[in-house]
Amino acid sequence: MDRYSERQLLPPALSRLGDLAEDLRWSWNPAARQVFRRLDYTLWRHTAHNPVRMLWLVEREKLDAATRNPQFMLQYERALVTLDAAREARHSWWARRYPGLGHQPIAYFSAEFALHQSLPIYAGGLGVLAGDHCKEAGDLGVPLIGIGFMYPQGYFHQHLSADGWQEESYERLNWADTAIAPATGEDGKPLVTAVPLGDRTVLVAIWRVRLGRVVLYLLDTDLPENAPADRELSARLYGGDREVRIQQEIILGVGGVRALKTLGITPGVFHLNEGHAGFVVLQRIRDLIEQGESFDAALEQIRATTLFTTHTPVPAGHDAFDFGLVEKHLAGCWGTLGSNHDRFLALGAYDSGGGALFNMTALALRSAGQVNAVSELHGEVTRDMWAPMWPGVAAADRPVGFVTNGVHVPTWIHADLAELFTRYIGDGWIDWHDEPALWDAVLTIPDEELWRVRQSLRRYLFTFIRDRARQRWTVEHVGIPRVVAAGTLLEPDTLTLGFARRFAGYKRPELIFHDPQRLARILNSAERPLQIIFAGKSHPADNIGKHHLQRVYHRALDPLFGGRVAFVDDYDLHVAHYLVQGCDVWLNNPRKPLEASGTSGMKAALNGVPHLSIGDGWWAEGFNGTNGWTIDGGKSGNHDEGDAADADALYRLLEEQVVPAFYERDAAGVPHRWMATVKEAIRTVAPRFSARRMVKEYVERMYAPALERGRRLG
Ligand SMILES: *Cc1c(COP(=O)(O)O)cnc(C)c1O
Repeated sequence: MDRYSERQLLPPALSRLGDLAEDLRWSWNPAARQVFRRLDYTLWRHTAHNPVRMLWLVEREKLDAATRNPQFMLQYERALVTLDAAREARHSWWARRYPGLGHQPIAYFSAEFALHQSLPIYAGGLGVLAGDHCKEAGDLGVPLIGIGFMYPQGYFHQHLSADGWQEESYERLNWADTAIAPATGEDGKPLVTAVPLGDRTVLVAIWRVRLGRVVLYLLDTDLPENAPADRELSARLYGGDREVRIQQEIILGVGGVRALKTLGITPGVFHLNEGHAGFVVLQRIRDLIEQGESFDAALEQIRATTLFTTHTPVPAGHDAFDFGLVEKHLAGCWGTLGSNHDRFLALGAYDSGGGALFNMTALALRSAGQVNAVSELHGEVTRDMWAPMWPGVAAADRPVGFVTNGVHVPTWIHADLAELFTRYIGDGWIDWHDEPALWDAVLTIPDEELWRVRQSLRRYLFTFIRDRARQRWTVEHVGIPRVVAAGTLLEPDTLTLGFARRFAGYKRPELIFHDPQRLARILNSAERPLQIIFAGKSHPADNIGKHHLQRVYHRALDPLFGGRVAFVDDYDLHVAHYLVQGCDVWLNNPRKPLEASGTSGMKAALNGVPHLSIGDGWWAEGFNGTNGWTIDGGKSGNHDEGDAADADALYRLLEEQVVPAFYERDAAGVPHRWMATVKEAIRTVAPRFSARRMVKEYVERMYAPALERGRRLG
């Protein structure tokens, strides 16, 4: 597909600009970002950093002028060299370390991937993790491919009513504006695969997204050959009822394996990111039985080559379906599996109170040879939570390990900070960024310089917030209260606390308002004020979450807090970048131990935004006493008591430590005590909670051994 008719539109000197724009690797390749920023900065901002859309809108003169600008052309050449090298991955970490294991890829299945704001096929943390995993795998040269869903309407956009109630709207994605293309066969025709659903067959289109070395294949049922209801199946992420949900999961699992066959890809390892993709196992058992294996031999082979990562200690986060629903929608999937039908269903049977259901996590636990949680603490919780799976087995012996999550450093680090690191840590810091010793050099950055960058990042955030508020006011004509709640009264030099994540009860978004008078005193201090920025969506079916959100919105409007509480709407990757880079402190106060890992705090810390958090998820491993603060009210069990104690502990940390350190300045206005915490946050979090450390762990402990095992099993 020659979308821009490149040869007509782009000057010959820039003939590969379309290639650069359509491979999302541009988004973390500094040279490529510069190319698009410089090409047309107004458009860059106007399109929320979407080069594919920019290439539709950019004026011919700008393109011609660019070709005459040697500096621009140098960046362009550098961007292409980097992209080509990444795609070839000849000198990558993987190529050096596993020269003999490149023959079979790892297939990574996930219901959502967060890659860039222009591709809204993610809801939150799970998607960000999957996206960061794929990006990092590409950087390391790991032969990984992603399998997921192309939701033509994506996840919803959030709007708030005048009363602060979340309303959802879905926009149909414009393919032409997105870095995505149909996967095609040798004849150049788009590839389609067929999935049996109930008593019919649904056709599934396969889209391709490029991330340098890594390619993602996304499934979409919106084909004219399908019945209207089937065309809608993949329309939205988490937008349907149970019936839609199970059908989506059959398409992801069964359809995903079939799509790989259509593409001619034979993976050596299957990585199931969360239980949504569990039906992968069904299609693989069936394929192996058709090749003459017994059920047991097939299961053994599958276990040897399947990894399962579980992500949530919240019971409602695990999909379970009535057996009737499973029978109904899997009716066409059994094929030659006929006589083993009961054995397959038994793999998913699990009773978590109220009778046995077909549980996707149970299915994955029983059919994956390697299971991991996403932090050390979450590992313990998971071994307890699923204890009935292993009757009589002591907790320590239950087969669930952990790989603590990490974030993709090149994606999340701000360019100004990256430059500072280049100057003080060294040129190749990005290539070695999971090496802890490297980061000791952060201590050599003069406080003044780091503080100057921190100040600029906060100002970028305020410009962004003000532009958005103005947009809501002048274009969308929201009322003045909405404009105030959106952050118009915030001050650019005031200590700023960020809290942005999905609005769900266990994350306690309202904890900081537990004692409104005490909070108001902290916020409104004449000499040392504080302000708080909230953002986050609530799941469309989660009314409790929406009530939390509405009450936070009402706080933002309450004059008691002096306009120092703001709510930024429509949280997505774009907003997340500004917030994790521009706030001063990142707040997280979940009800322990319900936060499996959390990742936004990692993104913040590596940008010099220390974490102020309950010692849950990753922070139980990350906190070292000097790189941020742990909120510990010392009371758990009873919710009300626990909340009151945690709120008190939070206020105390703010009053006694956070606020004084931030406002203690030298004659030049530099907060040296504050900078010590900032540096310690960067130094300790950047290497250890990077996706690089995480992906290497997956490779060394699981992918490589599973590829070896698979090779032996033939
Ligand atoms: C990082 C991120 C998340 C996950 O944040 P948590 O701290 O894990 O809750 C969710 N949404 C977006 C847009 C993110 O960037």
